[in-house]
Amino acid sequence: MNRITIPTEDLELKTASEVLKWVLEKYQDKVALASSFGAEDVVLIDMLVKINLAARIFTIDTGRLPQETYDVMDKIREKYKIRLEVYYPDAKSVEEMVSQYGLDLFYKSVELRQLCCQVRKVEPLNRALENLEAWISGLRREQSVTRMKIRKIEVDQAHNSITKINPLVDWTEKQVWDYIKENNVPYNALHDKGYPSIGCAPCTRAIKPGEDIRAGRWWWESPEKKECGLHVEKLIKPHGGKLVNRIVSENEKKILKEKIFTLKSIKLNKRQISDLEMIATGAFSPLEGFMGKEDYENVLHNMRLANGLVWSIPITLAISKDEAKRLEKGEDISLSDEFGTALAVLHLKEIYSYDKELEAEKVYRTKDPKHPGVNALYSQGEILLSGEINVIEKPKHTEFAKYYLTPGETRKIFNERNWRTVVGFQTRNPVHRAHEYIQKCSLEIFDGLFLHPIVGQTKADDISAQVRMKCYEILLEKYYPKNRVVLAINPASMRYAGPREAIFHAIVRKNYGCTHFIVGRDHAGVGNYYGAYDAQRIFLEFNPEELGITPLFFEHTFYCRKCGNMASSKTCPHSVEERIMLSGTKVREMLKEEEIPPLEFTRPEIAKILIEGMKKKIPEYNI
Ligand SMILES: [Zn+2]
Repeated sequence: MNRITIPTEDLELKTASEVLKWVLEKYQDKVALASSFGAEDVVLIDMLVKINLAARIFTIDTGRLPQETYDVMDKIREKYKIRLEVYYPDAKSVEEMVSQYGLDLFYKSVELRQLCCQVRKVEPLNRALENLEAWISGLRREQSVTRMKIRKIEVDQAHNSITKINPLVDWTEKQVWDYIKENNVPYNALHDKGYPSIGCAPCTRAIKPGEDIRAGRWWWESPEKKECGLHVEKLIKPHGGKLVNRIVSENEKKILKEKIFTLKSIKLNKRQISDLEMIATGAFSPLEGFMGKEDYENVLHNMRLANGLVWSIPITLAISKDEAKRLEKGEDISLSDEFGTALAVLHLKEIYSYDKELEAEKVYRTKDPKHPGVNALYSQGEILLSGEINVIEKPKHTEFAKYYLTPGETRKIFNERNWRTVVGFQTRNPVHRAHEYIQKCSLEIFDGLFLHPIVGQTKADDISAQVRMKCYEILLEKYYPKNRVVLAINPASMRYAGPREAIFHAIVRKNYGCTHFIVGRDHAGVGNYYGAYDAQRIFLEFNPEELGITPLFFEHTFYCRKCGNMASSKTCPHSVEERIMLSGTKVREMLKEEEIPPLEFTRPEIAKILIEGMKKKIPEYNI
């Protein structure tokens, strides 16, 4: 079998030293150990130096470290004759913080303690990690309740989704000390005075025998709050708990590119490429590839993956019977675009057949071939392939390139803006006043709005993506507060599966970092296949906790002359005659006649762009 990457399960079984060897080889000078010279850190330094003297080690001098830490730092430098990279907090930020809150602000509240950690540790750490592809830490599972689920290799969502290696996760405290003694490793003298975990001097104290190891840090706070922000993410967790990243590193890319020409190849269509991109970037987390039979059938019948996690749409790779004949289970297959450019490797796990009519009925609630989703299903191949993928190159987007943000990138933006609540808005239409009103209602309550239009493969009769993007840009520039909206393109393909797709859209937005998701009437519907409220009702079939993201149900909204403002049947008691509502067909007719719809329906700037767009139809990206 042609396995190319090391599966994380295998790494879990390796010893600390083997893990370090692997990571140094894989990332070379793009990996570094973050050391605060605690017991675990000096063990890792000793191991690293024995593998490679040039291994990078950095530390953060917060300015409040105990003398004993500086002492061990120098001892290590002398013993191993190595260079340590030292990062300091931004002087101006420290000056501002101390001037405003005093030197010992951390005792006053959890918030101020976190501010101090942020300025003195987190920000310098972010700077240190900026150009790394991986970092090594000395975290151990038994250290505290917040660290029980750590694995040896993780994707660090708090830091741009780089790789985080924790070689000592499964070590006990005794193992750490045995290693230090056997190898005569210099260690922090405070350990001998009963200090288990050493940070800044004012925030560290000795513990009594039998007390929890991390009870020596921030002892005035409760245990579940005791992380400094180096190792936590404040945003909503991705679906399944971990943001998937199936894009290979630069090193692996070189190896893969040479190998890929020897593999059998399959050409993907546009929708399959968009699925590939969504899997690769983690937008479809927890999926790491195309679905196997067990997941597929569970999704069809129970709207769940085989492991029980909510999932409503099959993500499969269909090929023809003829194509399937030349493939073998267990081999690596090259997946390419229509021009034959290799995009990814599929580790082919299963080749299986399926019932298209059953899928149509379950997912689309109709077998009618006129339904665009059903039509696409009926015209695809008879055989499904499953298996994890490794993507060499994300599909290139020449147009609107800056709007193709990955979940890792949007999460980083939300985090930087300190958003705790983010509302996702799915659309494939220009934003009219009704949508604007819904979005702004949400902005009154939540921290940020994530405007996430689909411009991938959709129906052919709507307004082109170019025109719509222009509408969004103008609208955001003129009518929305700058720092409260993020506009990005959702590279997914529309399936028009109505209710099931509403669930799916919500899960995908959770992966992008949204806590809330707007579900309007007939969300993701088409024609008359679904009832107006089906897409809202389906959310009631799940526990809010298992979805994680909270749906916000909105009615159609309109301008009411009597109310003198935007409203919906939830807020306006007046008759239909008072309401300015236009059908999609009517608006299209008006625009074709170059007639500007009423101000209460659409902003004139938007109407003008739409009229221009109607004149020159651009077929390429249409929805
Ligand atoms: Zn009214």
